[in-house]
Amino acid sequence: ENTTVVIVGSGVAGLALGNFLLRSGIDCVVLERHSREYVERRQRAGVIDPRAARMFREWGLADRVLDGAPFAPVLNFRVDGETRPFRYVTDDHVDGRFCPQQVLVRHLIDVFVSDGGDLRFEAEDVEPEDLTGPRPRVRYRERTGVTRAIACDFIAGCDGDHGVSRASIPGNVLTRQSHEYGYAWLTVLADASANHQSMMAIHDRGFAGQFARGPRASRFYLQCPLDTAVEEWADDRIWEEIEARFGEPVTAKGPITSKTLVPLRSVVYAPMSYGRLYLLGDAAHIVPPMSAKGMNLALHDADVFATAVLKQVKEQDPGPLEAYSATCLKHVWNYQAYAAWFTDLMHDAGDVSYHGEFRRSLARAEFERLYDSETANRLFGEFLTGLN
Ligand code: FAD
Repeated sequence: ENTTVVIVGSGVAGLALGNFLLRSGIDCVVLERHSREYVERRQRAGVIDPRAARMFREWGLADRVLDGAPFAPVLNFRVDGETRPFRYVTDDHVDGRFCPQQVLVRHLIDVFVSDGGDLRFEAEDVEPEDLTGPRPRVRYRERTGVTRAIACDFIAGCDGDHGVSRASIPGNVLTRQSHEYGYAWLTVLADASANHQSMMAIHDRGFAGQFARGPRASRFYLQCPLDTAVEEWADDRIWEEIEARFGEPVTAKGPITSKTLVPLRSVVYAPMSYGRLYLLGDAAHIVPPMSAKGMNLALHDADVFATAVLKQVKEQDPGPLEAYSATCLKHVWNYQAYAAWFTDLMHDAGDVSYHGEFRRSLARAEFERLYDSETANRLFGEFLTGLN
């Protein structure tokens, strides 16, 4: 078999890329390890920032893939139990969405498949080969046991942090830079309507967040020590901790349907390409979830890569592909800086047992500056919208 681009992984990066290429008349095959049902149910992020929404509009996909409550230029904070709404100043028209990641994924799959895209689920033992040759291949096994190989011009590694694409690059090629924040989030999904569309609490018991996921489900986040275990968090303890950190009762406590621990970390691999393999999204970088930028960075990479492939294939201009890694890394580091700042601020301002009183006072001063300085307010707004 032959195609122009083999895309490994059908998360947001792989599916957005597949749709951009398909719309531009460039052949591609998407290989996904899991079943369609599994991928469409996997719950994760919930914010499509205005930059990503604009990108879907530019590719002519906004009407078909964007869904959910509009992204208002307001953030709701609760500090020591007091509500502190924050409105940022922006000159741009902002049109992001609160949209569960699995809803975006479902829309992207529907559009890709109904437009004739080639998406193969349950592709096992995917193996990229001959990455530095003129025509690499991707080998995989179908569920039936049949092994196939697809030759291509480019491989897009969109298979997340634990995928095979980055792992297929020889050991001494990439650098890995990382930072551990020293705490985790207990992420909880409940069949309950949240008190607020979104709310983030700064409290001396630690950070807490709550986000509506549709009318009858909510996501809650609780800062907790790295060495805690999910088993230590009985449902009653979770509700008690949420109410203590928000300083208000949760009005609808439904069944808790999932609990996971996520250690907060930042990671960047460089360069984001090797031979004819290009890394996109979580395969190349992880940002802490406090920033709500992981999915948006993945979409940015898909935008840059699709544009670069178009330039190469339609105009024989290799420039943008050669610059792909540098272009993305510049953007990624800008958002890693933002993510680290906002993560430190929201956690250090609360529980002093992690980083002490001095860092708490600094974080509180930075928080107040967002309200007192229009310059600080605007910069924060630029990062929230992704429009800088
Ligand atoms: P993924 O979505 O991980 O997709 C990778 C795909 O590759 C998957 O479908 C996987 O099954 C497939 N795959 C893996 N290995 C193979 C293989 N060997 N062969 C074939 N296929 C393979 N981001 C935000 O922007 N906003 C948020 O609010 C936000 N909140 C988050 C909250 C939590 C709790 C977590 C965990 C993450 C959050 N993120 C958020 C991050 C966001 O979910 C990720 O950054 C995003 O999913 C990255 O997209 P991706 O396409 O790169 O990778």
